[in-house]
Amino acid sequence: MSTAVSTHPDVLPQQFGSDNYAGICPEAWASMDEANRGCAPAYGDDVWTERAANAFRELFETGCDVFFVFNGTAANSLALASLCQSYHSVICADASHVETDECGAPEFFSNGSKLLVSHSVDGKMTPAGIHELATKRQDIHYPKPRVVTITQSTEMGTVYSLDELQAISEASKRHGLSLHMDGARFANACARLGASPAQMTWKNGVDVLCFGGTKNGLAVGEAVLFFDHKLAADFDYRCKQAGQLASKMRYLSAPWVGMLESGAWLRNAEHANRCASYFAQKIDGIPGVRLASAADANAVFILASEQILNRLRERGWRFYTFIGGAARFMFAWDSELSRIDELVSDLKTCAE
Ligand SMILES: *Cc1c(COP(=O)(O)O)cnc(C)c1O
Repeated sequence: MSTAVSTHPDVLPQQFGSDNYAGICPEAWASMDEANRGCAPAYGDDVWTERAANAFRELFETGCDVFFVFNGTAANSLALASLCQSYHSVICADASHVETDECGAPEFFSNGSKLLVSHSVDGKMTPAGIHELATKRQDIHYPKPRVVTITQSTEMGTVYSLDELQAISEASKRHGLSLHMDGARFANACARLGASPAQMTWKNGVDVLCFGGTKNGLAVGEAVLFFDHKLAADFDYRCKQAGQLASKMRYLSAPWVGMLESGAWLRNAEHANRCASYFAQKIDGIPGVRLASAADANAVFILASEQILNRLRERGWRFYTFIGGAARFMFAWDSELSRIDELVSDLKTCAE
């Protein structure tokens, strides 16, 4: 269970609009505070950055290359750019963040590598979908498929099982495609499956992972992990050119030390996932309200009439409806069950 954070009277009562509404978790905050004592070399040449990179290597049971950037759009875009030439293409789900929520950054940072969109169900791509796009055209006029990207957990709050992941990986390798994972909510997927980070990635053919810190309890920051050293070549220059090389790098890396060494990364995700299941169970049976997709991780997507949703908004609740056409509620490391109960109660009233 998370420690409740005392809030200032002017602060918004807890909302479940997104998992990035949450504050910084105590473990991340404590190591930032520690890193703030005195001076340290800049641009990643400090002990915190080394310790954080080593903590990732230990957690993933491999000597991966680790980079720290400010946000997920940059992590994804730069990682994909490192896997592609400008004439290549990237196979992604139609619901993926890279396609729908990054303002063309993957295409921009790769100098034009095209995203090829595959139909997805509940946010998941299929091996057949990958095969279809990878074999659609072989001629010189078509952008040559080079990479597959999947999101784990998905934008629709579902999680690829290890078997599904393996099948995606096999389909990718069969066509000579690299595999990238958008892990903005990687921890939630690990928590859901009880799988090790290694099983979730390189042991199942993932070449590059963007590991989300922001939604897991950091102030800001994502880690990019390369499991194949060759693919990481010059990635530091790519980060610098994109304005993603932090000069005071220790403030991006130190919070990871607290998160990884204490195990908070997984505890935070487990708590968030538990809150989502709790909410999904509590709203089960409310007339006119139903789940749009399985609440595998920390999101719950609800289908309800516009009238019900408007009433909920009038009661002050914030939520997004632009993702998959359903109302999304997201839970984080600090979500409070009592506040979820208030949301459930309001939803019941609004549905009457
Ligand atoms: C939040 C999120 C990101 C990162 O978004 P930024 O706002 O750029 O940090 C990437 N992928 C997914 C699936 C996300 O939900």
